Amino acid sequence: MTTPQRMRLLNPGPVTLTPRVRAALSRPDLCHREAEFAALQLDVRRRVEHVYPEAADEYVAILLTGSGTAAVEAMVGSLVPETGRALVVANGVYGDRMARMLAAGSKRFDVVASDWLEGLDLSAVEARLAADSAVTHVLVVHHETTTGRLNDVAALGAMCKRYGRALLLDGVSSFGGEDIRFSDWNLEAVAGTANKCLHGVPGVSFVVVRKSVFAARTSGATSVYLDLWRHWKEQVGGWSPFTQSVHVMYALAEALTEMEEQGGWKARHQTYAARTARVKRTLEGLGVGLFLDKDPAASSSILTSYKVPAHVRYEDLHDQLKARGFVIYAGQGPYEGRMFRIAVMGDLTGADMEELDVALRASLARG
Ligand SMILES: *Cc1c(COP(=O)(O)O)cnc(C)c1O
Repeated sequence: MTTPQRMRLLNPGPVTLTPRVRAALSRPDLCHREAEFAALQLDVRRRVEHVYPEAADEYVAILLTGSGTAAVEAMVGSLVPETGRALVVANGVYGDRMARMLAAGSKRFDVVASDWLEGLDLSAVEARLAADSAVTHVLVVHHETTTGRLNDVAALGAMCKRYGRALLLDGVSSFGGEDIRFSDWNLEAVAGTANKCLHGVPGVSFVVVRKSVFAARTSGATSVYLDLWRHWKEQVGGWSPFTQSVHVMYALAEALTEMEEQGGWKARHQTYAARTARVKRTLEGLGVGLFLDKDPAASSSILTSYKVPAHVRYEDLHDQLKARGFVIYAGQGPYEGRMFRIAVMGDLTGADMEELDVALRASLARG
């Protein structure tokens, strides 16, 4: 039997698994209505709540079977009440997606959009919050994966706190890799997923919600499956209204253990930053520029977008790197063919990073 080549995924999730996390998938079968599963789920919930120690006392993690989008939609749908009004602050695909979720759930909302190459339009948000007391919730993407920009949620969150509006954060591509401030940002909830910075398997996502919300309000959910109230009532005791992805939950438990042993989100952030600095240096040496070149410090530690050089076709670059065991990610929408993205999450060794240098040099050489 030949061993398949180990693919190193440089796309923004799913990530290359460690052997340990992969092995966890083959633990014993469990019924999700048995005590063993309840214990597993309670343990995973508790550990997700502790990724950011600040959240541990006042927030609860609710685990959902689904990809990151399921968690974002459960958050947006359940937490923006019928009587509320949302303000989406958007500068990319994932901000737009939250607006589509609000529309699909017939919620009242407005959007403050900026160009995908720009940061959040904070002055427009402030003008709106000052003028309109009907806005109950502000929605934003932390790390806008479209361009790799780490949005200035510190400034937006401080504004939410000042004006007394709740912040709902799409932290799907930042949870576990970037700093999240629960109190300073007036966070009501943050959505995350197993298979990005936490290095788990796709299939479980979660919303970390301020506990007091469940006591004070009733669900705004227009969906049966993605109703956080319904999940919360059962999950407090370890149970679930629907079948959970048992084996994916095992893998998440193992991934969280691994992360704790490695020093938590801060250590992971440092690792990503070092990997990204290395890739940037290599590409710079090859004459490849940052896509956000007007704002070179704006990118996250997790993913960076680059310009496809004039002498290269994106598809060829992708295919050549893939032949060497690396999967990169295309630009979306207007940037298709003009941008490529490199994420550095997952199990990448020093040898992988060296091979990546070699592969980038070979694939981007002028012919
Ligand atoms: C990956 C991602 C999502 C969710 O994507 P899924 O494919 O549903 O896992 C949501 N928001 C952001 C910012 C993301 O990067």
